[in-house]
Amino acid sequence: MKKEPFVTLEQLKEIEKTYPTPFYLYDEKGIRENVKDLKEAFSWNKGYKEYFAVKATPNPFLIRILQEYGCGCDCSSMTELMLSNEIGVKGEDIMFSSNDTPAEEFAYAAKLGAIINLDDYTHIDFLERTIGYIPETISCRYNPGGVFQISNDIMDNPGDSKYGMTYEQLVNAYKVLMKKGAKRFGIHAFLASNTVTNEYYPMLARVLFETAVRLKEETGADIQFINLSGGIGIPYYPDQEPNDIRAIGEGVRRMYEEVLVPAGMGNVAIYTELGRFMMGPYGCLVTKAIHEKHIHKEYIGCDACAVNLMRPAMYGAYHHITVMGKENEPCDHIYDVTGSLCENNDKFAIDRKLPKIDKGDFLVIHDTGAHGFAMGYNYNGKLKSAELLLREDGRVQIIRRAETPKDYFATFDCFDILKGLVD
Ligand SMILES: *Cc1c(COP(=O)(O)O)cnc(C)c1O
Repeated sequence: MKKEPFVTLEQLKEIEKTYPTPFYLYDEKGIRENVKDLKEAFSWNKGYKEYFAVKATPNPFLIRILQEYGCGCDCSSMTELMLSNEIGVKGEDIMFSSNDTPAEEFAYAAKLGAIINLDDYTHIDFLERTIGYIPETISCRYNPGGVFQISNDIMDNPGDSKYGMTYEQLVNAYKVLMKKGAKRFGIHAFLASNTVTNEYYPMLARVLFETAVRLKEETGADIQFINLSGGIGIPYYPDQEPNDIRAIGEGVRRMYEEVLVPAGMGNVAIYTELGRFMMGPYGCLVTKAIHEKHIHKEYIGCDACAVNLMRPAMYGAYHHITVMGKENEPCDHIYDVTGSLCENNDKFAIDRKLPKIDKGDFLVIHDTGAHGFAMGYNYNGKLKSAELLLREDGRVQIIRRAETPKDYFATFDCFDILKGLVD
């Protein structure tokens, strides 16, 4: 499939007059259409709820859009909990799926009335000691070990992952939690990331549904929800076939009918904690070519760097690039597209075939709406960009301003000597 930006060159030229590059741009229309499709795909399940994985795109303006469609928040830290609470996502509309959790984060999650998803057996005691009781609604995270595969394709390696409990631990956890006052149970697992296949969720559903049936038989626990977590991916490459959320919802429904309904568990709610699927395609990083360099290879230097988008440097991830205004020109040049960090892996693309790029060209780096801005850091003292929302009516709204040097130096405020510098 041809990847086309959701913004035009003319719009970018207009935006640039107010907001200089680099910046993140999000597509309100795309976000809305996608969340509607997701809800529709799971509408067969009465209790269905998406808890948006806040870590993917922790911007309150964007999460508010999802909130209009009844989405909750999946949080993994104190600040994510604070953000959710601040925008009015409260109580059991918050899922707290953390790991290696600090005591104060459990305490705050409990104070907000969030559903706590325990990552480990030992966290039962830790939680009880921290807050003084065990909540009536509680969830446990499962790790089946081994490798997770579909046909002959190994999708991921749960046996190597730090998350969740073994089956034996789950059984004991449920028993102990019941003794300590828990009444309503959930089960959760995240077994593969960025899956671009309609089969992942139904396969995961089978694993979790069968586990839930066994757990109920062995412990008598009242299992009220099954959380399929994240992992539905997006096609970063133009030749990848996108997931069909209707087919995924239907696949999960079939497993539900096959496994849960005959076990008398036809009232169980399905929860999801999608991040990438909700926002990934509906955000892009907009940057400008500011240098070209001809040495042993051809380099295009742009005004964004890995601080703005770390995935290529960190994972070697592919992000498609459109040179705006040159969509129909032949890709007859081979470039490394770089940022300015003193770090040779600061490259958005390596040996990429692109049209001839001139200084001043806008580059749109696609599919950065999730795990993009959020992963940013401040290496080399580089500052994070603004985030902008392209509204459905074509207007542009700033939803996070760019960092300034004052932000960067703010944590030195304990040193009086810097006062003059930052004011
Ligand atoms: C990261 C994460 C998610 C979201 O993952 P995506 O790949 O963005 O869908 C969901 N749940 C948990 C517990 C996570 O850590």
